Parts: sequence; C-alpha cells; structure tokens
Amino acid sequence: MTRWTLWARPRKAVAFLLTVELLTVAGAVWASLNQSITRRELIIFGAIVTIAVVTAEVGRRVERMRRRLAETPHINLTSVWTVPTALLTTPSLMVATAMILYGHLWLRSWYRINAARPYRLMFSGTTVVISCLAARAVADLAPAEGPLADVNVTGLLWLLLVIVTYTVVNSVLIAAALALDEDDRSLTRLVGTWQDNNVEFATLCIGALTAVLMAWRPWLVALVLLPLYVLHRSVLVRQLEHAATTDGKTGLLNATSWQALATNELARAKRHGTALCVLMVDLDHFKWVNERYGHQAGDQVLRAVADTMREVVRDYDLCGRFGGEEFVILMPETDLTRGTELAGRICAQIRNLPIAETTDGAPFDGLALSASIGVAAYPDAGEDLEEIMLAADNAMFAAKDAGRDQVRAVMPSRAPERRSPSAAE
Ligand code: GH3
Ligand code: MG
Ligand code: MG
Repeated sequence: MTRWTLWARPRKAVAFLLTVELLTVAGAVWASLNQSITRRELIIFGAIVTIAVVTAEVGRRVERMRRRLAETPHINLTSVWTVPTALLTTPSLMVATAMILYGHLWLRSWYRINAARPYRLMFSGTTVVISCLAARAVADLAPAEGPLADVNVTGLLWLLLVIVTYTVVNSVLIAAALALDEDDRSLTRLVGTWQDNNVEFATLCIGALTAVLMAWRPWLVALVLLPLYVLHRSVLVRQLEHAATTDGKTGLLNATSWQALATNELARAKRHGTALCVLMVDLDHFKWVNERYGHQAGDQVLRAVADTMREVVRDYDLCGRFGGEEFVILMPETDLTRGTELAGRICAQIRNLPIAETTDGAPFDGLALSASIGVAAYPDAGEDLEEIMLAADNAMFAAKDAGRDQVRAVMPSRAPERRSPSAAE
C-alpha cells in the first residue's frame, strides 16, 4: 500500500509534483490579489457549482464504475465547469470551483476505489487550475471584450485557441509527471490514446459552449446537460469494452476476443482466397525467470515481450495472450514464408530484449530470455482455426524439442497431428 503514497515514488517525481503544486498555490494567490469579485461573478460561480454538483450526483454510478476500470483521474469531465468559471469569473472563484468539484468527486465517487493514490488526484486538480489560468490568460489577450463578447468567427477562433492552450498545458504537465514517476514512457501512456484525447477535447468544447451560453442566455445551459451525460456514459462503455477484450497485464487481446476476431479474419481469407499465418509464441524456461527474479519481474518481462511483438507486427495483425507466457499472433494476407520471416524477427527481438532492471531497481543480470515459435499458414495447415492453431502449436513444440530459441514452420505437405496430452504439458 505504501508503494502508492507520494513519498514512495521516485524522488524526482516527488520534487516535480511538489514544485508544481507550490507554484500553483503561489500563482493562484497572486492572480487573486487585488481582484474584487462582482455580484455577477458570484452568481455565475454559484450557478455553475450547483449545476456541476447536481450533474455529478446524477452521474455518480457511471463515475464509480469508470473509476474501477481506469487509473486515469486526469480524464474526467470537470473541465466542462472549470473552463466557464475561468473565463467568466475570477481566478479565486475558479480555484474554488476546482476544489469543490474534485472534493465532491473524491468523497462521493472515488473514495475507497482511488484511495491508494490521493497524490495523483491532488496533482490532477492542480493541473486543472494551471490549465484554467493559462486558458484565461489567452482569453484576456483577445481583442475587445474577450472571446465571449462577440459570438462571431473571431470569437470562435479565440475560443479554439483557449481550448488548445488548456489541452497543451494539461497534457504537458501530466506527461511530465508520468515520465518522472513510471517506467512505461510510451507515448500512449504519457499523453493518452487518441480516444482519451477526443473525450478531453469534446469536454472542453462543451465547456466553451457552456461559457458562451452562461454569458449570453444562462438558461440554455440546460441543453448541454444531456449531451454531457451521454458523453460520460460513452466513456464508460468504451472502458468496459476495453476491459472485456484486453489482457490486463500486457494490453494484448485476451483469448476470447482474439478467437472471435481471428474467426472473422479466417472467414475473410476464405471469401477472398488469401493466405494467413498463425504464430504460437511460448517463452522458454519462464518458470526459471520467475524463480530467479520474482513474479513481479516476470510480469515486467511479459509486458516487454508484448511490447516488442506489437512493434514487429502490423496494426491489423491480431496479437493475443493465451494465458501464462503463451502468445498467439494472426497475420492476415501473409504466406508461410513471410510469416516465418516475421517470426524470426520476433524471436531475435525477444532474445535481445533490453530490460536493464526490475521495477524494484534490482538488476536483471544473467537473464537469457528466448522464445520458441511455431508458424502455420492457411490454407496449407488446415481449413478451420482450431486446426491451424493446433498445427502452429505442434510446430512450437517441435521448436522446443529442437533446443528452443528458434522458429519452426508447418510445411505445406504436413497434416497436423493431434498432440498426446503428455506432450501438451
Ligand atoms: P518451456 O516453455 O521452455 O518448456 O518452460 P517454461 O518454464 O516456460 O514452462 P511452463 O509453460 O511449464 O511454465 C510457464 C510458467 O509461466 C509457469 C508460471 O510460473 C509462469 N507464468 C504463467 N503466467 C504468469 C504470469 O502471469 N506472470 C508471471 N510472472 N509468470 C507466469
Ligand atoms: Mg507455456
Ligand atoms: Mg514456456
């Protein structure tokens, strides 16, 4: 549990988080100094916070479910409300809005589920405040009365600039914090997927729209509530879909979804008369890796193997984890020669996998990782998926018998034989 407290994180990450948080407090205090709050600003603040809290209460079940599935507190819908307060009221009221909304989310939706990492929530709230301050600074540069005064093309362009500013500032801060805090520095981990960013952008667009309506005809804000709820639910549906089809440890397809997609691919190959290849990949002596370095380090190796396979295959190849340290890859429109060549590449990449140290900082000295790979192609190895997989599996075991760390392909003339149960162990 202590692993998830701020003090247990890498020192540079702690220093970054605390510095950003202190600067934010200082910046917010400075921006609030000598700023009187008008009655109108107070009314807007009150109205926005009330609507936001009521909306959050209505979507509480969706949010709780979403939180259980994802570890990304920075992707949430609060910017729909923080952006309008940033544009229409004062920095102090914007900070108050962010604190009330995050406090509410924490107490009503995230507490217990996210309890292990309150520091992430704190930082996420901090980035919202900084992004809002930056967005407001850009809005203040707009000619005349700001982007909300005139609802014309120039106003639209300024609003877009405000949204882009918010996104860039927010993404850079989150990506920097993750890069300092975690080993996984892939672009997807640091800045999120396209879909994550689309959701963030959609939220900001609704936020900008809310600001325009608030300034112009406040009661029309009622029209954004249903789209907001639908967006919230669609995010949950996407997360559910991801959880149901993906192997949590490696991010590859799980066995069920691999099989369903592979069946479709095979049907397509039959319709179009094209070839396809199935690769069975089994890591060699993996039990030893676990015994030598520990189970967690073993998991880290599995993730690294999955990443390296993803690098070699094309976007539309199907990469799945079939449990344990066995992986299966389907390559559409690929014949045996090409499939074997790619299998050789995967085999070599696994042999040279660059893992310097475990997540706990212990060295991986003496690790000689390798894999045995079996390749079978449609139509030579069989007509249905089970037959082709069986052929690839047999070839993989032939590779094991021949000394491991190599690729074996099912030659066209060879019909697949069913392995005896003892050979399957
Ligand atoms: P070989 O395939 O070369 O014959 O030897 P092996 O040691 O890889 O053989 P086996 O398939 O019997 O063992 C697989 C091991 O993989 C057993 C288990 O401890 C380990 N394993 C299975 N799933 C996981 C997992 O999710 N994480 C980790 N760390 N290890 C796992
Ligand atoms: Mg195995
Ligand atoms: Mg094995």
